[in-house]
Amino acid sequence: MTTETITVDQLTGWLARFRDLVTEQVAYLTELDSAIGDADHGSNMTRGMDAVVDKIRAAPAGTIDELFKAVGMTLVTTVGGASGPLYGTFFLRIGAAAGPVGTLDVHGFASALRAGMGGVVARGKAESGDKTMVDVLGPALDAFDAAIVVSSDIASAAHAAYSAAQTARDATEALLARKGRASYLGERSIGHIDPGAASTSLLFQALSETLTKE
Ligand code: ADP
Ligand code: MG
Repeated sequence: MTTETITVDQLTGWLARFRDLVTEQVAYLTELDSAIGDADHGSNMTRGMDAVVDKIRAAPAGTIDELFKAVGMTLVTTVGGASGPLYGTFFLRIGAAAGPVGTLDVHGFASALRAGMGGVVARGKAESGDKTMVDVLGPALDAFDAAIVVSSDIASAAHAAYSAAQTARDATEALLARKGRASYLGERSIGHIDPGAASTSLLFQALSETLTKE
């Protein structure tokens, strides 16, 4: 079965699955952030995504822009760390790019994701190779875009994005951090996977799993 469009319900499922994955992996995210940060990435992500899931269950959105506006605002207001405003901006920009619609086709979804990444870059000013979540977003979205040239199946594109995200997450280990708290460590940041890169890989895992289970 191919999935050529994505609906508010499927996007809501993506967010719920992301909440479940950050919850399952909270100790791993904490451990990564203990090595090169302040050990709060696991708790930041679970607190933020718990609040997101509560919010969208209490007031289900009718359109994609409404959904992601609620998600983004919740993350910005409930997560104190760098990741709250960055993930918040990612989702706010996805919603703004999607507009007041109930479904997106594969190209519309690809451009909304791209707009989300643009928001992260505009807000955090990280470039490729700075050892941040941008080092996973870039390759994952490139893989998504390459996949939709071949097939308009969103589930296949999400799977390709998740594969690229895992490789890109692992590749952050060798990088020297130039943004965020990890940059204070200089050379000592080398040899550790970036926590935000790891949570971003979970974001694509969640998308792939949500679309594949249907
Ligand atoms: P904090 O760094 O405030 O403790 P978190 O631990 O929740 O916040 O998140 C840290 C992650 O945020 C990093 O691993 C990195 O991926 C991401 N990050 C930090 N600063 C930036 C930035 N300027 N641009 C993009 N991502 C960033
Ligand atoms: Mg931290």
